Amino acid sequence: MSAQVSKVGQAGRGKVVAITGGARGIGYETAKELLARGYRVAIGDIDEVRLKEAALELGIDTYARLDVTDSESFGAFLDLVESEVGDLDVLVNNAGIMPTGHVHEEEDAVTRRQVEINLLGVIFGTKQALNRMLPRGRGHIINTASLAGELPMPGLATYCGTKHAVVGFTEAARQEYRKAGIQFSSVRPTFTNTELVSGTAGVKGFRNAEPEEIARATADLIEKPKPFVRVTKVAGGMVTAMKFVPRR
Ligand code: NAD
Repeated sequence: MSAQVSKVGQAGRGKVVAITGGARGIGYETAKELLARGYRVAIGDIDEVRLKEAALELGIDTYARLDVTDSESFGAFLDLVESEVGDLDVLVNNAGIMPTGHVHEEEDAVTRRQVEINLLGVIFGTKQALNRMLPRGRGHIINTASLAGELPMPGLATYCGTKHAVVGFTEAARQEYRKAGIQFSSVRPTFTNTELVSGTAGVKGFRNAEPEEIARATADLIEKPKPFVRVTKVAGGMVTAMKFVPRR
């Protein structure tokens, strides 16, 4: 794998971004959007086959199989990014899973994997990125949470718990590392049309978003950092609860 040189557009000006879960869905579209804006992008994913296809489609030379639940593997991925592309400016902790089913029926292994990928993976990624960014006094860590990180989503309690934790973790880290020059943000999408939700019929009262919309919101966040961005598709009014509707 050789160093990737992407088009340097106006906005990105060659900033280096690493995205986890970049082989498909929101991560893939985020990589595509950022490349179009002139960022230099590397992707990591546990699905090696799809990762290679995605890298080829996007014209990305720096990619690696990555399991976000393995801190050392995360560190190796970021080392590769820094040696082939350049100092890491932005990490997007996007990888996540959403097995469906009531918590009392969930296999322990499924519960554990969900917590490990959705929460531990974000924390490991943050640690690994901070260790590289802190000595330079700059960097931006973006964690993909969910609207389910703000609102209860009955029927997806474990997922909801992990995403609430990501929101809390990101805000605490944001306050903790602000003075050290590190930005933290969370992205909180509504249900979005990707494989992740293919087993569900969405959320009552909400329209699903498209992954391109979440990608644009994430890219905008890099250009204008703020604590979080929420992407909802609901007609007017305050949203106070989400009712998850399983597919029949
Ligand atoms: P997706 O299933 O299309 O893509 C997720 C990617 O993460 C896949 O390529 C998968 O291989 C990868 N991945 C899974 N486990 C991994 C691991 N251990 N290490 C590295 N990579 C791993 O899902 P998506 O909808 O694009 O989801 C992306 C993020 O957005 C997730 O964090 C998800 O929770 C969040 N999100 C999705 C929705 C939605 O409705 N699709 C809504 C809100 C938040």
